[in-house]
Amino acid sequence: MSYFLLDEFENIEPYNPGEQPDDREYLKLNANESSFPPSPKVLEAIDKAHINGMSHYSDPYCWKLRKAIGDHFGVSAEEVFVGNGADEVLSFCLMSFFRPGMKICFPDITYDFYRIYAKAYRLDYEQIPLRDDFTLDIEPYIESDRDVIIANPNNPTGLAIPVSEIERLVASNKNRMVIIDEAYVDFGNESVLPLVKKYSNLVVVYTFSKSRNMPGARIGFAISSKAIIEDMNKIKFAFNPFNLSSLTIEGGCAAVNDEVYFEYCVNSVIKEREEFEKKLSEIGYEVIPTTTNFVFFKAFRTPAGELTAKLKKKGILVRHYDDERVCDYIRMTVGTHDEMERVLVALLEIE
Ligand code: PMP
Repeated sequence: MSYFLLDEFENIEPYNPGEQPDDREYLKLNANESSFPPSPKVLEAIDKAHINGMSHYSDPYCWKLRKAIGDHFGVSAEEVFVGNGADEVLSFCLMSFFRPGMKICFPDITYDFYRIYAKAYRLDYEQIPLRDDFTLDIEPYIESDRDVIIANPNNPTGLAIPVSEIERLVASNKNRMVIIDEAYVDFGNESVLPLVKKYSNLVVVYTFSKSRNMPGARIGFAISSKAIIEDMNKIKFAFNPFNLSSLTIEGGCAAVNDEVYFEYCVNSVIKEREEFEKKLSEIGYEVIPTTTNFVFFKAFRTPAGELTAKLKKKGILVRHYDDERVCDYIRMTVGTHDEMERVLVALLEIE
């Protein structure tokens, strides 16, 4: 007997999240998370909210969080969509804008979820190779008539393209939908957000999982024109109206309002990243210069797969890819100073 769902969704391919061990013994640097806790104000807000929050359904419009995000970014709540992580936001983007067979494109190599969602929604997708040095050439996207998803900066390479390049793409065909995933934008990059007012075919996606230290809370959001956000909310109401819990809504508001803590965490990560990149280069690793909360570097003596396994034996989890273009590389989250010192000691012992 075959299950209807499995037949129907033969295109479905589960995302590989990397190792997510329960065992907190590991120094977990394999998923671009955060070594900082959320703002203390988040914990206070969740604590206050939990009694009423748990005994009633959450606000399906998530107005309070949309307003807090809107006020912070200088847009109205009607221009903000919130989801259970950027992953769900991306999923609702694809569900809202595309029908099976529609054409989209995104880089090869990039965040694997774009391909997995595109397959699941049966889109006709094309992956446009990065250049050999992992930089992104915008021309093939401009020349294509396809809708586009680009992570800027990209994951796992950590490289970003200038906003002016993205504007050329968005302006080149105003009938084309352009989704820019700015999950890592806060660690030293320019955002395309100001372009949202100018172009109604642009959607910018963000997450609280990186610069706001809350991957476990699952909060992501998109900013776009009111019409696009309204469409996304219609789709959300058809599939999962109460997609954010009351606790997450309150915690999210507190996080977005605590600018001082946000600046402190982001600046600490940037400082540590710069120091760590320098030390990796001194050991002899070729490091791709990045503006994210992770580093991407080429193994040179011990092959990357072996290095990953050896680091794991020393209690450190990092990400290694099977894809032949990046199989010599390691992606590693930037943690605290002490954590990165521990990594350097481990690398020197292994090499
Ligand atoms: N976009 C990119 C480029 C990512 O790397 C990730 C997660 N690593 C996400 C989106 C998903 O973020 P979230 O945790 O908010 O679902």
